[in-house]
Amino acid sequence: MDFSLSDEERAVRDTARQFITREVMPLEQEALRRERAHQPGLDHSELRELQLKAKKFGFWGLSTPEEYGGMNLPAVLQSLIWTEIGRTFVQFRFGGEADNILFYANDEQKKEYLIPTIEGERISCFAITEPGAGSDAANIKLSARRDGDDWILNGEKTFITNGNDADFVIVVAVTDREKGVRGGGTTAFLVDRSMGWRSEFIQTMGEGGPAALVFEDVRVPHRNILGEVGQGFELGMMWIGKGRYLIPSNALGIAERALSMAIEYANTRETFGRKIGDNQAIQWMIADSEVELEAARWLILKAAWTVDQGTDPRHASSMAKLYGAAMVNNVVDRVMQVHGGMGYTRELPIERWYRQVRLMRIYEGTDEMQRLIIARDLLRGYTKIGGHLA
Ligand SMILES: Cc1cc2nc3c(=O)[nH]c(=O)nc-3n(C[C@H](O)[C@H](O)[C@H](O)COP(=O)(O)OP(=O)(O)OC[C@H]3O[C@@H](n4cnc5c(N)ncnc54)[C@H](O)[C@@H]3O)c2cc1C
Repeated sequence: MDFSLSDEERAVRDTARQFITREVMPLEQEALRRERAHQPGLDHSELRELQLKAKKFGFWGLSTPEEYGGMNLPAVLQSLIWTEIGRTFVQFRFGGEADNILFYANDEQKKEYLIPTIEGERISCFAITEPGAGSDAANIKLSARRDGDDWILNGEKTFITNGNDADFVIVVAVTDREKGVRGGGTTAFLVDRSMGWRSEFIQTMGEGGPAALVFEDVRVPHRNILGEVGQGFELGMMWIGKGRYLIPSNALGIAERALSMAIEYANTRETFGRKIGDNQAIQWMIADSEVELEAARWLILKAAWTVDQGTDPRHASSMAKLYGAAMVNNVVDRVMQVHGGMGYTRELPIERWYRQVRLMRIYEGTDEMQRLIIARDLLRGYTKIGGHLA
């Protein structure tokens, strides 16, 4: 058994780390200042500029196939890179990416939606969640009714990331109530904002925020169907599946950075005439964090490895998402405790992480949904205790 990275993995990881350290981390103080003034930490043009700079470093389209100018990296490498991105709280991501399901577009749609999204000229969002359908995504109601060469969409989506900035949405709608959501009764549509949907910003405890999308008799041409009629739910689940190992990969980077801050503080802050790190109470918080962090790392890399093996990654990804999200919440909480009053201030990014990472236990499948998947797989004998080694 070999737990080491290959030379290539190490080289790519180190180059990503270099880019984040040299080009993105220096922007942190300004990003914090802006966020405190209720502005985006990084605006679109600044993000784009950084992404183009990263392109020169060789980072463009981590998951995008080479025929579209991307790197088409294995999942393990993508995971390693997302961990590096997590080390900064500036809301940066490498460019040249598009929603995985946009690659199901036909040639005409590729020109209109996929390529401009990869190039950063268009902003997409993905919408399945509704006020009455989150965990129970099969309960969606937003309807699409055929009318000649068009479809008429009515209903509401909620909590849509980028929903206020996007100029088009990939929306999953019910097209055949009889067949039902799981029986081929839903379809995904590419809908430009100019076709008539509107968005309403939702304030959350995190920076930025999702939006509610309202569809009132929005007319969408038949040619804007993504994939096949009846394939909507399947595409939706595919979209959600991708984040299941990338979200915890990102969480790992946050936890690593936060824990290193706690170690530094424990080694310098003095109370009662000695370093706080000399106290067992502080040492235990550091030790528990390190153990959870390492346990999460291997669950996450195992999930990414499973993707690369081409076998069903859902069980491994659910374990990585469940444990990784819990881990980062535990670690950031302890890091705040180690910093005492300073941890609670807005001079340090700890309270920001504390708010940010809470979301990881909720979106793209709550903790409870991950547990449900893990338990169901075991109960019906789909997965064995001991995983692929069993
Ligand atoms: C900031 C943010 C961004 C988001 N971005 C997007 C996006 O881009 N696109 C999109 O489509 N959606 C998005 N979502 C929606 C997100 O995926 C849902 O919020 C999430 O799936 C939970 O659904 P819900 O909020 O309706 O909670 P509910 O499903 O109502 O759940 C409420 C609670 O009950 C628990 N629960 C529900 N059913 C069960 C059960 N059977 N057994 C045990 N416990 C259960 C849940 O785990 C949860 O704790 C986003 C959400 C947020 C907050």
